[in-house]
Amino acid sequence: MNIHEYQAKELLAKFGAAVPAGFAALTVEEAVEAAKKLPGPLYVVKAQIHAGGRGKGKFKELGPDAKGGVRLSKTLDEVKANAADMLGNTLVTIQTGEAGKQVNRLYVTDGADIAKEYYFSMLVDRKTGRIAMIVSTEGGMDIETVAHDTPEKITTIIIDPAEGFMPHHGRAVAFALNLTGDLNKQAVKMAEQLYKAFVATDMSMLEVNPLVETTDGKLFVLDAKVSFDSNALYRHPDVFALRDETEEDPAEIEASKYDLAYIKLDGNIGCMVNGAGLAMATMDIIKLNGEFPANFLDVGGGASKEKVTSAFKIILADPAVKGILVNIFGGIMKCDIIAEGIVAAAKEVNLSVPLVVRLEGTNVQQGKDILAKSGLAIVPADDLGDAAKKIVAEVRKAA
Ligand code: GDP
Ligand code: MG
Repeated sequence: MNIHEYQAKELLAKFGAAVPAGFAALTVEEAVEAAKKLPGPLYVVKAQIHAGGRGKGKFKELGPDAKGGVRLSKTLDEVKANAADMLGNTLVTIQTGEAGKQVNRLYVTDGADIAKEYYFSMLVDRKTGRIAMIVSTEGGMDIETVAHDTPEKITTIIIDPAEGFMPHHGRAVAFALNLTGDLNKQAVKMAEQLYKAFVATDMSMLEVNPLVETTDGKLFVLDAKVSFDSNALYRHPDVFALRDETEEDPAEIEASKYDLAYIKLDGNIGCMVNGAGLAMATMDIIKLNGEFPANFLDVGGGASKEKVTSAFKIILADPAVKGILVNIFGGIMKCDIIAEGIVAAAKEVNLSVPLVVRLEGTNVQQGKDILAKSGLAIVPADDLGDAAKKIVAEVRKAA
């Protein structure tokens, strides 16, 4: 689960990290009121969407010369004009994709006088099974570009969670950022505060880009992006309360209501599978046959009629889907029950694209018979390879 910058900063501030003062705003009036509470003379009006690259982003409605989603403002009138420009409009950044994201919230912050921008992030490193702190002197830029062009400017510090954060980790951060004197001390402290926030709230990713040094020698979290481990959210109702459903894919929200694990992908073959491993194998074999899956969808062990129907509806709501591959192993559920579910669901949703079904497991023959007698144009398949070949052929025939 992701949260907005203002929520992330409020959370980090609770762990002691220095963040600029600021207030969230839903309307132009609130934005101006927020600015009035700040000392000035510089304010920053920031679009709150779950995507980075806002500063360099462009608003669809405003034309190519308009400023992006992070705007320095020198007066209350400028705050007002910038807020009015952004609210309700669609911001397109390198992370939003072409469709962009509508800006419904703003964050008005105290403008910082920046001397230097640094990069700081943390994530759970799967290779080492530990927490990685990644820092660079090249802040404010896309870290992928830095990694590609000047990898020597990125330092990774691995922290064993059993040992926890030690002062030497903090010194390694400060050293990598070439910070000396009081700034060095601030960096050591900040690294520890961010580490504590990360572990205490079960974050999976924390990116502070940029971490800034101001002209009067202070380190600040100027931007913050946080993702939490969804499997640990039950431990943090206060974090879960920060969820903004308007930022999430509507199909994924719908799927979560039926306890379906659904992730939208870019291809044209919709997949309905039970079990995450089988779902991964199904996606792989579609790719092997030259097409791409439109989604990952695990209906789980008990693939009931209701679940299968809602899964069909979610898959078909995606206009990119040109065919569906159902690949279900009847272990807990018997194949005949699943087949009845598929037939009923296909009738209910008025299936308009080719459907290939591969069933295996208990009562498989009864299941196949139900599909064959359904009167629906269901293409049966014998095994996974056969199923993938058939759905790819069907989709290409229809194209
Ligand atoms: P992002 O574009 O979504 O990553 O948003 P950021 O919050 O990182 O802001 C983008 C850039 O705007 C930063 O890298 C800074 O260069 C600039 N910026 C943001 N806030 C301030 C500020 O308070 N003062 C100044 N001078 N520049 C800022
Ligand atoms: Mg940033």
